[in-house]
Amino acid sequence: MSTVPFTEPDERVALREAVAKLAGSYGHSYVAEKTRNDEKLTELWSDMGKHGFLGVNIPEEYGGGGGGMADLAAVLEEAAAAGAPLLMMVVSPAICGTIITRCGTEAQKQDWLPKIADGSMIMAFAITEPDAGSNSHQITTTATKDGDEWVLKGQKVFISGIDEADAVLVVSRTADAKTGKLKPALFVVPTDAKGLEWQHIPMDFHAPEKQFQVFIDNVRLPADALIGDEDGGLWQLFAGLNPERIMGAAFSNGMARYALDHAVEYAKTRKVWKDVIGTHQGIAHPLAKVKIELEQSRLVMQKAAALCDAGDDMGAGEYANMAKYAGGEIACNALDVAVQTHGGNGLATEYGLGNLLIAARLGRIAPVSREMILNFVAMHSLGLPKSY
Ligand SMILES: Cc1cc2nc3c(=O)[nH]c(=O)nc-3n(C[C@H](O)[C@H](O)[C@H](O)COP(=O)(O)OP(=O)(O)OC[C@H]3O[C@@H](n4cnc5c(N)ncnc54)[C@H](O)[C@@H]3O)c2cc1C
Repeated sequence: MSTVPFTEPDERVALREAVAKLAGSYGHSYVAEKTRNDEKLTELWSDMGKHGFLGVNIPEEYGGGGGGMADLAAVLEEAAAAGAPLLMMVVSPAICGTIITRCGTEAQKQDWLPKIADGSMIMAFAITEPDAGSNSHQITTTATKDGDEWVLKGQKVFISGIDEADAVLVVSRTADAKTGKLKPALFVVPTDAKGLEWQHIPMDFHAPEKQFQVFIDNVRLPADALIGDEDGGLWQLFAGLNPERIMGAAFSNGMARYALDHAVEYAKTRKVWKDVIGTHQGIAHPLAKVKIELEQSRLVMQKAAALCDAGDDMGAGEYANMAKYAGGEIACNALDVAVQTHGGNGLATEYGLGNLLIAARLGRIAPVSREMILNFVAMHSLGLPKSY
């Protein structure tokens, strides 16, 4: 039997169908209601965990599905396409789960991975700092050794979901690392640790997952809070950042699918002249353009995930960046077209697109901005001089 490249394996197609069914049974109305009531997506998160969807990338011996990033990205894309994205999937199983799988000790894997895999705990991730921003080499959160313990001190900003997390993986530098080039040291900090506090940052888009400024005031940690080597180099961090970018792309692609599906449905049914509005090329062509660019974006995401799962960190880095860029663009374009297709209803709360229009912008900013990706591609893919 001939195989068709660019199609996914049967298992992943089945996974997509199962997630679409489960997330679809909650749908956008569930998320909108939770957002309105200032509640978390606890039922959906638990249900996804119970079905094994949150841990598909975690090794089987630690309670996961034994798959890879291509599987986890498929899960998030389907949930987002069903109108019920789970932002903390980008963080807990993708970043933290991968870093612990690749860099943790056996005891750390036993401790954290089964709970991350079944969703019974959430681990947030904190790298961004107020004064360092996109330039992570400038972070100043510092870990100092004190006997058998570490003492962590610093400040983080825009940390998603720390209020619903049991622990947070904090990126720091060790006190003796005085050069500008970051040698990241990664620590799991329980969210009830003495000296750890956070403050909500109000945002102009509304979602159940919130962002926080985090204050780390001489938090004392046992030696085994350190994940990986204190001197292990950047690869330990990028073990998590490539998955983060692929999941960012999955989130955006799913959101774009959601917007496109709703816009197409509206264009097929809304009639204000002789025929439905989808008859007019002014409506149909932008939708067709979104469809084409969405398929391009999904293909780059799938390639990035395949490289990541094959252990090609350099190739995955290049394609994860490009996938994140493409996802951010198509989510913004798709939401813009969807709103336009809906006319006034596009901004009516009932249709839920106005809020997503702002949320889609996130894909151009986080976890790495559009400009920093262009810097990276110009330098690494095109061999142009370093600009940053
Ligand atoms: C909703 C949300 C959730 C987030 N969740 C998390 C989280 O869970 N954990 C976490 O650690 N962080 C999180 N972040 C932070 C996010 O990763 C940062 O916002 C992002 O990396 C950009 O950093 P910054 O906001 O400091 O922008 P800045 O670095 O201040 O950049 C501002 C602008 O300048 C541009 N710019 C900067 N440097 C250059 C350059 N050299 N060349 C060209 N342009 C440049 C940027 O592209 C951007 O447009 C989140 C952010 C948001 C908005």
